[in-house]
Amino acid sequence: MKKLWLQENKWEDVENYLKQKSTIMMPFGSVEQHAKHLPLGTDAYLSQQIAEDVAKETGTLIAPPVWTGWAPHHMAYKGTITLRPETLTSIVEDMCESLIYHGFSKIILINGHREANLPPIKIGMTKVRNRTGAFLAIADPFYINAEKGKELSEVAEGGIGHAEELEASQMYHFFPDLCSPEKAEINIPKHHRFMQHDPHVSGDKMITASDVGTYRQATKGIGIMGDATKADAVKGKIYHDTMIANIAEFVTYCEEKIDVEIRKKDIPL
Ligand SMILES: [Zn+2]
Repeated sequence: MKKLWLQENKWEDVENYLKQKSTIMMPFGSVEQHAKHLPLGTDAYLSQQIAEDVAKETGTLIAPPVWTGWAPHHMAYKGTITLRPETLTSIVEDMCESLIYHGFSKIILINGHREANLPPIKIGMTKVRNRTGAFLAIADPFYINAEKGKELSEVAEGGIGHAEELEASQMYHFFPDLCSPEKAEINIPKHHRFMQHDPHVSGDKMITASDVGTYRQATKGIGIMGDATKADAVKGKIYHDTMIANIAEFVTYCEEKIDVEIRKKDIPL
């Protein structure tokens, strides 16, 4: 492949790529507030950085990034842009089915947003899987690198949430000019034990919905949930490198070992 990003190639390059490979990555972000120390585009910048570094390791093509996601509760702060979940699901379906039409049969969705984006993306990929037979999987920074994240983290229980230590560390490493570490804060709310939001804390949990009012209150008018004061660029690089190795391993496995039979190819209409 001449260029890692699909949109930077000519159509003939894509045709040639498809003679060798059938896997493509697709990064999803979000334009949502990330407190006072990280930019609104954090999740989008990170998913694109991750996709690019996996592409360098594996030679896998990357589809154009989807910048916006589903983030209604973050509308509590200026600048956030949220799609309706149905819109995001439709974007997943239409982009994936366009690529499947051309001959891609394995699609790795890179999500930069952790939990809010996941339900609409998962619905989209499940529809595409069932309609077409293509293989689809989501690599989410948190879940594909949970072990290293837990090992590296130095924050107290409840310290991992939103705009916290791990994503801040990754941002400080790659995009220092967009970050203001001196404005990083701690906000570890006291919830009922079943409402613990930190995925590093094991135990019985309820799943609750948030809205702009309660979210603004819970994030103290700052936008942070968790602890960003222990973030640093060195930690961010270590965290990122194991994430890339894990995703690259899975992308290679998909390309080489997963057999796919495409049952149906339709132009999204
Ligand atoms: Zn984020």
